[in-house]
Amino acid sequence: MEFRCPYCHAPIYSRKLKICGVCEKPLPKELLMSDEQIAFLKKEVDQEEKRAKDFGQQLKDLGPHDGGMGGISGF
Ligand SMILES: [Zn+2]
Repeated sequence: MEFRCPYCHAPIYSRKLKICGVCEKPLPKELLMSDEQIAFLKKEVDQEEKRAKDFGQQLKDLGPHDGGMGGISGF
């Protein structure tokens, strides 16, 4: 889906912006994400980050702590 500014037709890359980045006119509400949507997405991201952190911690706890990479990274 692509959104464009109704005033200058510049593509809107972030629906979090409340004004057009080019002409700085306020964007219509229907083009923007609601605060609710943003909050929801933020929550999702937070949860994802937490999950990744927990997972990393688990790996650290499980793995031998000798500093070796074990060839996982492929370097
Ligand atoms: Zn514009």
